[in-house]
Amino acid sequence: MDSSTVVWFRRDLRTADHPALLAAAERASRALALFVLDPVLLRASGGPRVEFLHRCLRSLDADLGGRLVVVEGDPVEVVPRVAAEVGATSVHVSADAGPYGRARDAAVAERVELVRAGSPYAVTPGRVTKPDGTPYRVFTPFCRAWLEHGWHSPARTDASTVDWIRSDLGRDLPAGDGLPDVRALWEAFRDEKLPDYATRRDRPDLDATSRFSPFLKWGVVHPRTLLADLGRGAGAQAFRTELAWRDFYADVLWHQPESARRNFNRAFDRMPVDDDRERFEAWCAGRTGYPFVDAGMRQLLAEGWMHNRVRMVVASFLVKDLHLPWWWGARHFMRHLVDGDLASNQHGWQWAAGTGTDAAPYFRVFNPVTQGEKFDPAGDYVRRYVPELRDVPGKAVHQPRDPIVDHAQERREALARYAAVKG
Ligand code: FAD
Repeated sequence: MDSSTVVWFRRDLRTADHPALLAAAERASRALALFVLDPVLLRASGGPRVEFLHRCLRSLDADLGGRLVVVEGDPVEVVPRVAAEVGATSVHVSADAGPYGRARDAAVAERVELVRAGSPYAVTPGRVTKPDGTPYRVFTPFCRAWLEHGWHSPARTDASTVDWIRSDLGRDLPAGDGLPDVRALWEAFRDEKLPDYATRRDRPDLDATSRFSPFLKWGVVHPRTLLADLGRGAGAQAFRTELAWRDFYADVLWHQPESARRNFNRAFDRMPVDDDRERFEAWCAGRTGYPFVDAGMRQLLAEGWMHNRVRMVVASFLVKDLHLPWWWGARHFMRHLVDGDLASNQHGWQWAAGTGTDAAPYFRVFNPVTQGEKFDPAGDYVRRYVPELRDVPGKAVHQPRDPIVDHAQERREALARYAAVKG
């Protein structure tokens, strides 16, 4: 057994159900807990996501009895240096499936032994394949195979699994709050909202979803822990399917890393897109004149989060009503979302744009008015985020006010552009 090792936390900011902790405890008698603030990732993140990360780190540090070492710098340089300073020859991590993380880890592994155990997904990306070994490109058969493949039981770990090294190599985190009791939040959702999740999850006015995406993004909780706790019923089944979407998009990105930046379906490279910064700014600010779209964009700016139904509608609006490139919208989302996750975000956008896997048929263009009337029937969601409409009663609030474009006209334009590509 080695005398010391390093556990390098990244998107696994917890001590429960943590296979890399088990692997570290088997390998060495003591371990240093490390988190690296990587300027490349910080630059791409807006204030709310960085603040949420700090909260996660404060909670993890408290769980580790104040022994988390936080260092700012390039991980390729920092991780081997910190390992050498504590006399460790190995570093334990949960595998990262994203393009940046994979390249970074390969560079770190050239300098110090990197031991991967577990990943942020129920099933590690790349493991679920068709019988002939090729990846799935369509969700429904992936989901079937994913359920058949199954996942491990939660790993029994906690902060005491490892004897943590005390060190003054790191810097202090800015003062502030940690996270609320995430287990209690989960139990409240499971007991009160999960039974009706299947029927209510599409309603942004109801607060009927888990809002666990930021915790899942940073690995404060592992999806396997939630899957093991779901039980039976339509709500549980619908929730399981949503976690399968998360694994599916990570799997797609793992097989096709370039799909983070380009159309998954390359036929759409031929489709002309506009370059209108003014319209883009109006969309970003929630000033399109379509109240359901504006409410969503303002919720994003105010809370760093947006309801899934509204994400679909605002994304469709950017691509099909404003004819702007989906990657402009994806970049804005990644900057502002607390749960900003490259796989779910870029592929959520490509789904809406019709350029991705399992794409919504290109001729399905969301109507922002009827979507609002259907999923926010009393208009409460819009009135919550668009204060100037507070006095408009009921669903009348969904009627456009000084719209920057005419939906019917832009819908025809979008269909013509898509048809030209399909033709
Ligand atoms: P719940 O309904 O409680 O779902 C439980 C969990 O399942 C979520 O926390 C999430 O991890 C997963 N999930 C649910 N829906 C999806 C989905 N469509 N795709 C992948 N995973 C899903 N999700 C992100 O986590 N990060 C993103 O950056 C992101 N960007 C998106 C961009 C667009 C354009 C669209 C249409 C969707 C995006 N999503 C993203 C997916 C989805 O909107 C969020 O996961 C969901 O709204 C989070 O709220 P919740 O935790 O209450 O979800």
